[in-house]
Amino acid sequence: MASIKSHNLGFPRIGAQRELKKATESYWSGKISYDELISEGKRIRLMNWRLQEEAGIDLIPSNDFSFYDHMLDMSCMLGAVPPRFEWERKTVDLDLYFRMARGMARLTGQESGIPPMEMTKWFDTNYHYLVPELFPGMEFRLAAEKIFNEYQEALEAGIKTMPVLIGPVSYLMLGKLPDGKPPESVLPGLLEQMLPVYAGVLKRLEMMGAQWVQLDEPVFVLDLIPDSRKMLSRAYQSLAESVSSLQLMASAYFGELRENADLFMRLPVQALHIDGVRGRHEVKRISEQLPEDKRLSVGVVNGRNVWKNDFQKSIELLRPVVSILGEDRLWISPSCSLIHTPVTLKHETLDEEIRGWLSFAEEKLDELVILASVLSGEKREEELNANRRFMESRANSPRIHRYNVKKRVAAINPAHLHRTAPYAERRLRQRASIPLPDFPITTIGSFPQTSDVRMARVKLRKKQWSQAEYEKFLETEIEKTIRFQEQLDIDILVHGESERNDMVEYFGEQLEGFAFTRFGWVQSYGSRYVKPPLIFGDVVRPEPMTVRWSVFAQSLTPRPVKGMLTGPVTILKWSFVRDDQPWKDTCRQIALAIRDEVSDLEKAGIRVIQIDEPALREGLPLRSSDWNEYLSWAVENFRLATSGVEDSTQIHTHMCYSEFNQIMHAITALDTDVISIESSRSKMELLNAFVHFRYPSEIGPGVYDIHSPRVPSVDEIVDLLKKAARVLPVENLWVNPDCGLKTRTWQEVQSALTNMVAAAKIMRKERDKNQEKNDRGPQTADR
Ligand code: GLN
Ligand code: ZN
Repeated sequence: MASIKSHNLGFPRIGAQRELKKATESYWSGKISYDELISEGKRIRLMNWRLQEEAGIDLIPSNDFSFYDHMLDMSCMLGAVPPRFEWERKTVDLDLYFRMARGMARLTGQESGIPPMEMTKWFDTNYHYLVPELFPGMEFRLAAEKIFNEYQEALEAGIKTMPVLIGPVSYLMLGKLPDGKPPESVLPGLLEQMLPVYAGVLKRLEMMGAQWVQLDEPVFVLDLIPDSRKMLSRAYQSLAESVSSLQLMASAYFGELRENADLFMRLPVQALHIDGVRGRHEVKRISEQLPEDKRLSVGVVNGRNVWKNDFQKSIELLRPVVSILGEDRLWISPSCSLIHTPVTLKHETLDEEIRGWLSFAEEKLDELVILASVLSGEKREEELNANRRFMESRANSPRIHRYNVKKRVAAINPAHLHRTAPYAERRLRQRASIPLPDFPITTIGSFPQTSDVRMARVKLRKKQWSQAEYEKFLETEIEKTIRFQEQLDIDILVHGESERNDMVEYFGEQLEGFAFTRFGWVQSYGSRYVKPPLIFGDVVRPEPMTVRWSVFAQSLTPRPVKGMLTGPVTILKWSFVRDDQPWKDTCRQIALAIRDEVSDLEKAGIRVIQIDEPALREGLPLRSSDWNEYLSWAVENFRLATSGVEDSTQIHTHMCYSEFNQIMHAITALDTDVISIESSRSKMELLNAFVHFRYPSEIGPGVYDIHSPRVPSVDEIVDLLKKAARVLPVENLWVNPDCGLKTRTWQEVQSALTNMVAAAKIMRKERDKNQEKNDRGPQTADR
């Protein structure tokens, strides 16, 4: 038996076959009963506990299961139900829980209703949590029994688990306050309100026989202001005093602790978890400085990625730690909860070679156990040798390492990163080659993805349709989209993206170095899961990817058709990326592939090309001191992808996330001719960024919120455009929706775009009138 323990922080709750999605969605649509849903949840939990028990995990978590989101579970536990749900302050039942997640309207089918809680990204993952709604003076009380029930449930199955919950300070810091309230003025007071609830939960778990409880405090890897540090000390002082035999673990993950390490180590708890993947360089120092009364759980198995652990490297890192701490004080764990990795490799049909490089949640459990036992002195030669062989295969496989790619990357020079002329000159050439009215009108790329469009892909995949039949269908779809835009009188047309299932997968499927799983799902939010591509090797573009469709679309119309590509940063950010070279190097290879595509589009006569980078903003590192490094390679790779064209070719980009103020310099440095950004939802709040910052080129702040079925009126759009015209030079303004139209219906799009075009025309007329006035002005003065 190993004396070093293996410890898991959380297991995927979605089920290997997406059972949780099926169950919750069936419940929402009334196809299964409440009892059926509850028992499916129970079955999934039990299956996961058994799996971990059988793998030999020593410390198995409970309360890591969730019907929707673990932050929402916390809000329910703490009775933090937003007042608009008119809760009676007793317990929160499952229906209220789902209403908080999804809003009332969708549950009852009414038009208006109660909006759901807001959702946002969980640190720098693609998981979204429901943001706690905090307000001064709010009261907390224990309002859900989930954590006790699940502990008890596992106990009855013969498994003594370690209940996991989000720690009080992270919970508060990840919440939002009513507009403008500075957190430091409110949070300490809320913490005092909240601590008795946590204390009560811990005491009750202690009474139920729990030995350990894990409190997740991922905020330890963020920049912390003095007030947050004070709250962390205060909270744990108080929690430590509330228990007697129960032992507490505080866990930090998603990054290095840096200047927060001392504070973390001083917490009055019996164990600490650190991220040994992203914080690899801190592991030795922390184990040396760890107070003697504490154990250390080192997360060496990557919970954010899909690659096999390199045992030799992990052992190298941990051997010294064993001699510093001794076997009793060291636990081996994943870097964070395993909910960010797919469930199992068991059902995958990937070829043997690639499969050999991978490890999903289930396989990672085995890795933890093997590492713990090897470090405790067991031989396990067979497993170690097998692992070494896989590592060698990855290091040497010609499918991963392509000489030509490396050579080409090495030959990149500064000239590849710049357009020939500065924007002002390019603009003249572009206007000469593509004449445009004031307030040029365009869209972001996709048009409605109707069930017909999705079915067409299914028919092709199931071989009910030949390639030729499928392509015929796409051509019809493209023609319809082009005629539609001509009739609306849009200036720069798009082909509609009906050939794309997803803006990353579509490109990944045509690039070498990418692989796709069948069931590699990861929860994005609630019952929405994503299946990110795996980037395993050097990236090559064997042939043009989009040219055929853009050229076909262009052949149908005299109006310019915009080529449509996904940018290198977004492709990287929405995939599982190889871990054997820095991200920026992988990004650079993708940028080269996109650069080739841009150039082929140009050669084929496409004069306007848009490269979408919706993920640029969300790729920002967690620590602000790391931003510049990231932004500099992200911008450089975008420029590598886009700057190989003639000055007369117009490069557009599109971004969805509107909090740009802090990264304006980077957006400017992209040096695009036109950028379109989301802004109608925030009523053009984004424009604040432009009051003090003169953005040099053209810009289309979105004027139609495509996330909602609501059709904006002409007046509304005119108002938004006027707002924009107050801070931006009118000659630089474009008119476009917030994002792609693929989730909308044709009817909605027809009405909304009709209004959008009408609004642009009103703006043009007014501008003409003003110009006439200005032209006459000086003459009158002369007389
Ligand atoms: N071109 C894409 C579309 O229109 C952009 C999507 C996005 O920004 N997320 O769908
Ligand atoms: Zn978008």
